Amino acid sequence: VSLSISPVKDSEGRIIGGAKIARDISKRKAEERNKDAFISMASHELKTPITSLKGFTQVLLRRFKQQNDEYTVRLLSRMDGQLNKLIKRINEMLDISIIESGQLEYHREAFAVNSVVQEIVETVQETTRTHHIVIEQQPYVQIFGDKDRIEQVLMNLLTNAIKYSPQANRVIVRVETDTNGSNAIIKVQDFGLGIARSHQQHIFRRFYRVNEEKSQNFPGLGIGLYICDEIVKRHGGHISVQSEEGKGSTFSLVLPLLPQ
Ligand code: ADP
Repeated sequence: VSLSISPVKDSEGRIIGGAKIARDISKRKAEERNKDAFISMASHELKTPITSLKGFTQVLLRRFKQQNDEYTVRLLSRMDGQLNKLIKRINEMLDISIIESGQLEYHREAFAVNSVVQEIVETVQETTRTHHIVIEQQPYVQIFGDKDRIEQVLMNLLTNAIKYSPQANRVIVRVETDTNGSNAIIKVQDFGLGIARSHQQHIFRRFYRVNEEKSQNFPGLGIGLYICDEIVKRHGGHISVQSEEGKGSTFSLVLPLLPQ
């Protein structure tokens, strides 16, 4: 809490009293605000040069493919892959600023959850040598929502599941419906580090990372789950975690089904 007292003056400038203002500026709130401001500025500054780098890389890739220069094509493809990762990070940073200003837009349509799950699993599997991603139980379920944003949530949960389970070799994705058939449930289960109970309620907060000091092996900004939570809430759903330290975690995404 911060207290400030300012004088209250009459029309001739004489002090006739004092106004006491108590502000609850917790350290955390102030830190979050500083990080928000920095992230907003940095992401806007980075977006343009990285987008043009990506463009140049595409032009070069096309040229060297025409010349059948396999070595250069391989290097440029890797460069392109790394640029995609950077662009994903920057877009996440931009999302934070857009969410904070209440301007994240949703373009809703009816779509099948199953095909989105299939697509994202295939995309992540393409770049993952260490883990096999298994899809289990798939009743056909349709929801009404922003397909790109739901894809983003799934992508985040899957990449986290792989990132935080370095000793495991499998991740399971399940699509279910709840017992009264009003919600779709997508579960992403890993067999990795797990999350201690005391941290579980905080991980959806922005910038929150479990054991930040030990997290050097797991790069990240602690904003992915915050964005997921925000997107899912705006779809009338919710996201939760069940986890045991040392055994693994299951993230569950509950989304209202499209009414029949
Ligand atoms: P980031 O991964 O960039 O740190 P997230 O917002 O995605 O940010 O996750 C917040 C924190 O929650 C992570 O730093 C990590 O400590 C924890 N976490 C997220 N997913 C998992 C998981 N599948 N297993 C264990 N810990 C996780």
